[in-house]
Amino acid sequence: MRIVLLGPPGSGKGTQAVRLAEHYKLQHVSTGDILRDEVSRQTELGKKAKKFMDQGELVPDQLVVDMIASRLKDAFVLDGFPRSLPQAESLDALLKEKNVPLSAVFNLDVSEEEIVRRLTKRLVCLDCKAVFPAGTQGTCLKCGGSLGKRGDDKPETIRERLRVYRQKTKPLEDYYRRQGLLRQIPGLGAPDEIFKLLTQQLDSAKSKN
Ligand code: AMP
Repeated sequence: MRIVLLGPPGSGKGTQAVRLAEHYKLQHVSTGDILRDEVSRQTELGKKAKKFMDQGELVPDQLVVDMIASRLKDAFVLDGFPRSLPQAESLDALLKEKNVPLSAVFNLDVSEEEIVRRLTKRLVCLDCKAVFPAGTQGTCLKCGGSLGKRGDDKPETIRERLRVYRQKTKPLEDYYRRQGLLRQIPGLGAPDEIFKLLTQQLDSAKSKN
């Protein structure tokens, strides 16, 4: 199974990707997590990526595509990639080479007001990067690490990330709709409900094949 999760920052892609990866035994590929790791290890890629990430801009397509191409296995859920048309076209080319098509593209649909509300308040584990809603007290439930704010979750960077999303990533909905792959998922419900919708759609597509 090969899944792409689309949706604005803060729409719940990361949360659902972790669960889908566990449920269907897929490789979870979060370009944001990989890039943050490169930044914290101060690699060449991390040094190049940092300035774009700090400003809420996209890291240049070629850097991200090369990073993905060297990691991608045959069964995966992509979280935060592709984020632009050139990235989507590169992914198609990569999959064509391997002769393995995408199974589904889900768009987690959440309004901008809700996104700003979530991102300004959300907390992340500074160690394992798990995301927690506003007001969560204490330490990370998964690994016991300290909770804090993500560097790019501040109001001016959030506004820029949303602008970039509208301009560069939103057009991917049409791109995948034309390929007959796009499925819209209301992203406002509880994580459990959204996960149920995703698995229902994937299981029914599987049983038809
Ligand atoms: P995320 O954790 O997915 O919100 O990503 C955090 C930041 O990493 C983004 O604001 C971008 O600067 C960068 N990034 C993540 N994925 C990509 C991608 N596919 N293309 C370009 N930049 C990306």
